[in-house]
Amino acid sequence: MNNKEYDLVIVGAGLSGLKLAELLKGSELNILLIEKRDTIKTLTKNYFGTFLEYIDRWKLDKYLLYKCGWGMYSTETKYFNNLEGKSLCVLEMNAWAESLKLDCDISLNTQIVKTRREKNKIILIDKNDKEIVTRLVVDATGIAQTISSSLGIKKSKIDFLNYVYIMENHSLENQAEMFYFEDTDLTNCGGWFHTLEPGRCLVGCAEYTVPGSLGKIELKKRLDSYIRNFHPLNSYLKNAKVVEEFCMAGPTTTEHSSIAEDNYISMGDAAGAGGPFIGDGFRMAFAMADSAYSTIKTAFSLEDFSKKTLKIHAKNFKKEFGKWYKWSYLFRFVWVRYLTNTEMNLFAKNLKKLSDDDYYKILTSKFSPLILWRLFTLKIFVNVFKNFIIYHFLEPIGLAKIKRRPKVL
Ligand SMILES: Cc1cc2nc3c(=O)[nH]c(=O)nc-3n(C[C@H](O)[C@H](O)[C@H](O)COP(=O)(O)OP(=O)(O)OC[C@H]3O[C@@H](n4cnc5c(N)ncnc54)[C@H](O)[C@@H]3O)c2cc1C
Repeated sequence: MNNKEYDLVIVGAGLSGLKLAELLKGSELNILLIEKRDTIKTLTKNYFGTFLEYIDRWKLDKYLLYKCGWGMYSTETKYFNNLEGKSLCVLEMNAWAESLKLDCDISLNTQIVKTRREKNKIILIDKNDKEIVTRLVVDATGIAQTISSSLGIKKSKIDFLNYVYIMENHSLENQAEMFYFEDTDLTNCGGWFHTLEPGRCLVGCAEYTVPGSLGKIELKKRLDSYIRNFHPLNSYLKNAKVVEEFCMAGPTTTEHSSIAEDNYISMGDAAGAGGPFIGDGFRMAFAMADSAYSTIKTAFSLEDFSKKTLKIHAKNFKKEFGKWYKWSYLFRFVWVRYLTNTEMNLFAKNLKKLSDDDYYKILTSKFSPLILWRLFTLKIFVNVFKNFIIYHFLEPIGLAKIKRRPKVL
């Protein structure tokens, strides 16, 4: 066994781990970045979402591929708002990762499998039994959430499952388009489409993991069904070919039971901060790296790595996202259980009536009671109440059923 001691160890060189290592460039600290893959130069190629307001904050303008509007397509109502092309964008994060010149130690092909505490330090143990000692560990292991589990911190649930195709040869004239689509007879949280580089696009559908939700194989069938039957996917993708496919899971809105413990903080998906909407995964990974950076500076200046000091990290997160997230959580809760195509169609119509400002707030998960009221209106609230009664009281005794997701396609 081989022991080496670091001031700070970042485990995971994904979005948040790399961002934090970049922020810490030039620091006097003795830092190690650990990654289980054999490179830190690749990430998922392109990220899309409502990042425009963050481009300056994170100096990402060089990696901006394109900007475009956003549409909500239900079974009857298709509504696209281009918000002057300012609502969403696609960033080439692979190019960003490739451009990084980090000055910390980097350990590739190193998978941390266990941890233990010893006298105010954390010992990380990799799969070859090599031990790395540190005063502070930053868990950036993504959805694997390895470090938190081994320290006994309750994991966030895996909250949704996506099945995704990258397709070539679509027939869109406009190279920049993104929309959300939903047929509640197929999946409980719809899917999304967006163009990538010319000729390539991404299409995926998802299920929130509530009791009875679909597994990987069934989800893929439902994605095929969307592509065959749902307008305009069926016309855009008529002659398109699948060139890549994958299934991915992620957390949504459920901040971890603890993101700051003695000698430990977590960021991004490892902190259970995935978010329910377009771009939340990216935005929260980067914002939490900012927050971890300021927390680390304070902890090292005080030479105090206790939970009491590291809790600043959790406070920062709440300050930036907490105000909105309880409402977006409520929105998701209602959506998954009580909205059927009838309500989704009304919902898409209501979106048309919103001001651009409110529309953009929804895209960035900035929900409030007022926005929910404008979006749902009385009619949907009444329907939601009816569906609530059916779902909880009438369905269990077989007296009525909400028409959603028939088993056979
Ligand atoms: C295919 C795909 C497409 C996505 N597209 C978008 C998008 O368009 N927009 C958006 O906002 N979000 C998107 N997301 C979600 C987004 O990628 C995540 O929310 C974000 O990457 C979280 O960042 P992170 O740093 O927490 O974790 P990750 O970026 O997942 O990084 C975790 C890193 O830790 C490493 N690791 C894990 N366990 C260990 C271990 N035990 N030891 C050492 N290393 C370990 C992993 O190899 C990985 O490099 C996408 C996710 C996927 C999978």
